[in-house]
Amino acid sequence: MPIPTAGPTVLIDGAAIARRIRAEVAADVAARFPDPDRAPTLATVLVGDDPASAVYIANKRRAVREAGLRDEHRALPATASQAQVAAVLDELAADPGVSGILLQLPIPAGLDAPSLIDRIPVGKDVDGLTTASAGLLARGEAGLRPCTPSGVIALLDAEGVPLAGASAVVVGRSELVGRPMAQLLLQRDATVTVAHSRTRDLAEVTRTADVLVVAAGRPGLIGAEHVRPGATVIDVGIHRTPSGLTGDVRRAEVDGIAGRITPVPGGVGPMTIAMLLVNTVRAADRAAPGR
Ligand code: NAP
Repeated sequence: MPIPTAGPTVLIDGAAIARRIRAEVAADVAARFPDPDRAPTLATVLVGDDPASAVYIANKRRAVREAGLRDEHRALPATASQAQVAAVLDELAADPGVSGILLQLPIPAGLDAPSLIDRIPVGKDVDGLTTASAGLLARGEAGLRPCTPSGVIALLDAEGVPLAGASAVVVGRSELVGRPMAQLLLQRDATVTVAHSRTRDLAEVTRTADVLVVAAGRPGLIGAEHVRPGATVIDVGIHRTPSGLTGDVRRAEVDGIAGRITPVPGGVGPMTIAMLLVNTVRAADRAAPGR
């Protein structure tokens, strides 16, 4: 592989790529589901009144409707019991008119999230977070993949970043992002290293990366010393600050070193919703093959 050299850093326009994917989903749905009442359906479940979760759910539901998909929503109070949330998930699981189910996280303390998530049937698991979906991914078998890491792969593909044989470093090992990210990169034949809070010399590890995906949830963790000249840097982190949203990467420092970088906002964030729409259509297609 050629040794990358420093030059102007290209911004990866995640917002534009996500818009394109959403338009493709909308065109596909309009062509295949002329009756809107029979379009693939995403059921969202919101427990409690966390304001950030309410905004995320509203954005997802709007995107669903804009793509011509059907939007079903269940809201439960913060006082809902484990059995009440489970009953709602079970009802949606049994409903043949529901293609995908999304339980908005985090759920109120006192509820057991993993066991609630695992009530979602694998075929309707559009967030890809059930034990069954994680198992399919770990085994490299077909299934629905978590939206944020699959959005990162879609960004890398849209930019034509070669993955086979590339050195990829993922910072973070959460179930939601880091772990599935590493597995998706491995599936694409990258040589993958996963760094985390116990990694001894983070900069030494990240400097080996042709593709560096940062999902540590630590504002400004990654700076000039962490990035190999020419590397593609994907910043998954999102942090609300008084001056707006920022990521895990100190972008001003990395500009001129990285070959490509995702901005925050406008990078990975919009891709997560786009992939949720893709997963909802996939779930519907897998439930009724050959339709
Ligand atoms: P998380 O569950 O808190 O996991 C963070 C991971 O980063 C952990 O594995 C942790 O290591 C590792 N880490 C923490 N500090 C580190 C350090 N100093 N050096 C190296 N590794 C470190 O977070 P998450 O859910 O994966 O989310 C990560 C970030 O992505 C957050 O900012 C979140 O808001 C954002 N996010 C964005 C989107 C989007 O749509 N753009 C979607 C989801 C999440 P240990 O395992 O050792 O603790």
